[in-house]
Amino acid sequence: QDGLLDAVHRLMLHADRTRRLEVRANADTGADAARARRFGAEGVGLCRTEHMFLGARRALVERLILAETDQERQDALAALLPLQRGDFVEIFEAMDGLPVTVRLLDPPLHEFLPPLEELTARVARAEALGQDPGRDGALLVAVRRMHEQNPMLGLRGVRLGLVVPGLFAMQVRAIAEAAADCTARGLSPRPEIMVPLVAAVQELEAVRAEAERILDEVGGLPHVRIGTMIEVPRAAVTAGEIAGAAEFFSFGTNDLTQLGWGFSRDDVEGTFFPRYLGMGIFGVSPFESIDEPGVGRLVRIAADEGWAARPDLKIGVCGEHGGDPDSIHFFHTVGLDYVSCSPFRVPIARLEAGRAAVATAAAGSDSR
Ligand code: PEP
Ligand code: MG
Repeated sequence: QDGLLDAVHRLMLHADRTRRLEVRANADTGADAARARRFGAEGVGLCRTEHMFLGARRALVERLILAETDQERQDALAALLPLQRGDFVEIFEAMDGLPVTVRLLDPPLHEFLPPLEELTARVARAEALGQDPGRDGALLVAVRRMHEQNPMLGLRGVRLGLVVPGLFAMQVRAIAEAAADCTARGLSPRPEIMVPLVAAVQELEAVRAEAERILDEVGGLPHVRIGTMIEVPRAAVTAGEIAGAAEFFSFGTNDLTQLGWGFSRDDVEGTFFPRYLGMGIFGVSPFESIDEPGVGRLVRIAADEGWAARPDLKIGVCGEHGGDPDSIHFFHTVGLDYVSCSPFRVPIARLEAGRAAVATAAAGSDSR
């Protein structure tokens, strides 16, 4: 068995020496980041911050939803700030010296708000007992007001950040303060800030201006790169403009596939999609392996436009395709800088990135 482990180790070393793609991991907690590092991740390519607002912190989120005045909203955000700071400290510690791309909040509202049916039932129960539904009553009004027919096409990502003043600012401050805390303890945090669901450069410019102001205010940090997800087709075809406000791009191929094909990613396990796929009209699910020439073409257009506008633009991918072997070969040929995938897929991604480099060198087909 030692011999086998030794052979695997040598194979991985060979892949690491050969590959040109950097391999990062998608990790949202210190424990995940530490695990990813043990698997050889060279940073966090996507730290989703949504889960940090769920569980025991729901009460604070509800306070934010119910805030009626600027002061109430600011107080609710101030209560979230130290918790967020703690989240980031853990991740920066685990990834000390390596880049950590923190994505600002991107919750489709239906996953984030208290469920409408549950609230309705609680309020109805209280009313039937002749009791005042209190906070639940106010929440029900707010949740009904925010209800959307298509939450995945609604108030998510950068849209939410621009609509709720102070929300992204709180997150940027938490990132900056966590990094400052780590630096003061002799660590070398390397945070990057990523804006989700951008469709137009103006959205990114607005967030960037506020983020830069806060980073300056906190001060004492090496340059923090600000970039964007490319996950909306409009962003892909206007990537040249968007690159004017971005230091990096990361392809969100989950949303890019959903929006490119018009298939709901929430329903891939439902009845329609598997049956449709099963008819054999087209091959493998586009959610599993990058769809060439469709969504893949959007990736190429955006990468080429981005590099034309800003040759030093760093470009990666953090959708599920970042851990899929065939897709990794494709990303290598486009010339991307990194893939980011779940911690357990990191070794596979390292190997595949090595194999892709060998295959394209043999065929003389590297595009960058
Ligand atoms: C994506 O859309 O590919 C992505 C990485 O973001 P999320 O899955 O969180 O929407
Ligand atoms: Mg997305």
